[in-house]
Amino acid sequence: MSRPQQITVLGATGSIGLSTLDVIARHPRDYQAFALTGFSRLKELETLCQTHRPRFAVVPEAAQARHLQARLQDAGLDTRVLAGEAGLCEVAAHPEADAVMAAIVGAAGLRPTLAAVEAGKRVLLANKEALVMSGALFMQAVRRHGAVLLPIDSEHNAIFQCLPGDYGQGLQRVGVRRILLTASGGPFRETPAADLAHVTPEQACAHPNWSMGRKISVDSASMMNKGLELIEACWLFDAPPERVEVVIHPQSVIHSLVDYVDGSVLAQLGNPDMRTPISHALAWPRRIDSGVAPLDLFAIGRLDFQAPDEQRFPCLRLARQAAEAGGSAPACLNAANELAVAAFLERRIRFNEIAGMIEHVLARDAVQPVADLDAVMAADTRARVEARAWLTRYAC
Ligand code: NAD
Ligand code: MG
Repeated sequence: MSRPQQITVLGATGSIGLSTLDVIARHPRDYQAFALTGFSRLKELETLCQTHRPRFAVVPEAAQARHLQARLQDAGLDTRVLAGEAGLCEVAAHPEADAVMAAIVGAAGLRPTLAAVEAGKRVLLANKEALVMSGALFMQAVRRHGAVLLPIDSEHNAIFQCLPGDYGQGLQRVGVRRILLTASGGPFRETPAADLAHVTPEQACAHPNWSMGRKISVDSASMMNKGLELIEACWLFDAPPERVEVVIHPQSVIHSLVDYVDGSVLAQLGNPDMRTPISHALAWPRRIDSGVAPLDLFAIGRLDFQAPDEQRFPCLRLARQAAEAGGSAPACLNAANELAVAAFLERRIRFNEIAGMIEHVLARDAVQPVADLDAVMAADTRARVEARAWLTRYAC
C-alpha cells in the first residue's frame, strides 16, 4: 500500500485551511497533514496539531514556537515547531511534502507560495493575492520548476474543470471565446449607493452564500474580490482581460462558465462549499468524496443573472484597469486594497471610501515593469507608504 500524500497547509487555522483539514481527515489512507501553519489563533493551531499530528507546525515568532513546542511535547507529540517566514518557506519546499495548500491571506503568502512553486510541488492555490501581485513571475516559476498549479478559488476551479486538458496551448486554439466569471454580488448587491456609506464591518462580513475569512468577505462586498479574480484568471488561463467577463449570479450555484466559439457554454455547478474545489484539486485527476451535500436543483428552483454595476462597485473597474496596465499595477492595487480593507474593519474609513483610497494610490504610482520579486515587493511597499499617507490625512 502506498503511503498517504503529505500535505502542507499554509494558513491551516483559516477558513480554507480548516476545510482542507476536513477533507484530509475524510481520507486518512490517502492524505496526511505534513505541516500546519498559523498566525494568530495559536491555541487553535495547537488543537489542530493534536488532531492531525503533523511533522511540522509554523508560528510567527521564535518565542511562540518554543511555547508551542513545549506544549506539544507535553502532549506526547513529536511535531517540530518552526517560526517566521523562513519556517513557512521551509515547510512549503520540504522534500517530503507532496502538495501545498496555499491558504494564507494576502501578500504575506507570496514568498511561501513561491517557495512551493520553486520546489516543483503540486500547489493548491487559494491565496489569489500572491498570483495577482507577481503574475508573470509566478507563472514563469511554475513552468520553470515543473510545479502543478491547481486553482482553489471556486470560480477558477470551475473554469479549469470546463477547459480541455490542452488549454495551455492558448485559449483561442482550443476554441474558447470568453471566460464568464460568476459573482454572487455579495451582501450589498441590492444596497442603494447612498447607503453604502453607512454599512458596518459586521454587515460586510455576513456573506449571503459563503462562509469565509474577514478580508475576502469585505473584498466580496466591495467586489474587489471579483477584480482580483479577474486578474487571477488572466494569469492562470493566459487570457487577456477583455476575454474575461463578470456575471452576477446571486445563487452561487454556477461557479463559472466557459463560452466556446461553436456556441457551447460549459459550466460547473455545485453547492457553495469550498470542500468541492479543495477535494478536486487534492485528488485531481481523480474524484473523491468531499463531504459536500449533493446539489438539489428542485430546492434551488431558479438561477438568475445580472450585469455588474461598476458605478456602485468601482473596485471592479479599478482591478480591470490594473490588469490592463500590467507591470507593478496589480501589486499596487492589491497592497492598497489590503490596507483599505484593514482600515474599514478597524472602522477608520467608511465602506464607500475603500475604492477612492485605492484609486488615489494607483494614480500616484507610475506603472513600472516587474522583472523580479524585488520589483514586486518594491511596488507593494510604495503602495503601502502611499496608502498610509492617505489614511493619515483622511481616516479617523
Ligand atoms: P482566513 O482569514 O480565514 O485565514 C487566513 C489564514 O492565513 C489563517 O490561517 C491565518 O493565520 C494566516 N495568516 C494571516 N496573516 C498571516 C501572515 N501575515 N503570515 C502568515 N500567515 C498568516 O482566510 P480564508 O478565507 O481562509 O482565505 C485564505 C485565502 O484563500 C485568501 O487569499 C482568500 O482570498 C482565498 N480564498 C478563500 C475562500 C474562502 O471561501 N474562504 C475562497 C476562495 C479563495
Ligand atoms: Mg472566488
